[in-house]
Amino acid sequence: MSKDYRVLLYYKYQAIEDPDQFAKKHLVFCKRIGLRGRILVSEEGINGTVSGTVEQTDQYMDHLHSLPGFEDVWFKIDEADDYAHKKMFVRSRNEIVSLSLDDDLSPLDITGDYLKPEEFHQALLDEDTVVLDTRNDYEYDLGHFKGAIRPDIRSFRELPQWVRDNKEKFMDKKVAVYCTGGVRCEKFSGWMLREGIGDKVGQLEGGIDTYGKDPKVQGDLWEGKMYVFDERISVPVNHVNPSIISKDHYDGQACDRYVNCANPECNKQFFSSKENEDKYLRGCSAECRRHPRNLYVKEHELSDEEWEDRLNAIDESLYAKQN
Ligand SMILES: [Zn+2]
Repeated sequence: MSKDYRVLLYYKYQAIEDPDQFAKKHLVFCKRIGLRGRILVSEEGINGTVSGTVEQTDQYMDHLHSLPGFEDVWFKIDEADDYAHKKMFVRSRNEIVSLSLDDDLSPLDITGDYLKPEEFHQALLDEDTVVLDTRNDYEYDLGHFKGAIRPDIRSFRELPQWVRDNKEKFMDKKVAVYCTGGVRCEKFSGWMLREGIGDKVGQLEGGIDTYGKDPKVQGDLWEGKMYVFDERISVPVNHVNPSIISKDHYDGQACDRYVNCANPECNKQFFSSKENEDKYLRGCSAECRRHPRNLYVKEHELSDEEWEDRLNAIDESLYAKQN
């Protein structure tokens, strides 16, 4: 049975003359139809993820398709039980993905070969192909393609330097890159070609999202789940052999539930079951658990006595100098 809501993921590299003006008008339209989400607009194009009812998302897709240059925007559609965003943002930026190259490039001029899900599946099985995940470390840790290289980066703009520092992994090899919906790889595969890194550079067309929905490959060779930048946080990809590869920060059990450390000054993202979140007050360390501004304590309106009791239960204390 189909659900009442949808989440859309899309992008298009297409020149926009006045992104500020475009963003303003776009925001007015999105708010008028009651859509929610986050859209980035720049001189190079548009990149967005939005959610709404079936009717709202239909209206939005029709609207974008009616704008000159955007007639063929490819929307990846997920069914959902509710909105996946709290608010509606449309922002004008320098880029639709933050790569911040000194010498920027357009995927319209240079980009890697597009690999269909089946071709990418072949690449994963090919010993002579190196598969590189172009996403951030915390996205990789929730799930990734079997055997893919994990770049040690917290944000996309760190990737070019990381690849330069690790050139030997890619030299004289066939390289296949992938990301969530494809927008990052369009640019990054172009950058690799321009730098002359990799013998051949291919990119997963439509990203992991498309790979998981492909009726033939059905997400095969994907391990774990896929990180998404909305309230769902994770979505399934592999419908052949689903698995959990990430571990609970506290007890090492299989767990794919991401939480943010309750110490607002730490905010580290880690995996935790609901049970352990309660037990450890969502603090990643003893210091974060007794931090005066612990958000878990605030959200659950714990008194100092209750807070101290919870800490005592795990051999810690609010009043300890060190533990
Ligand atoms: Zn912490």
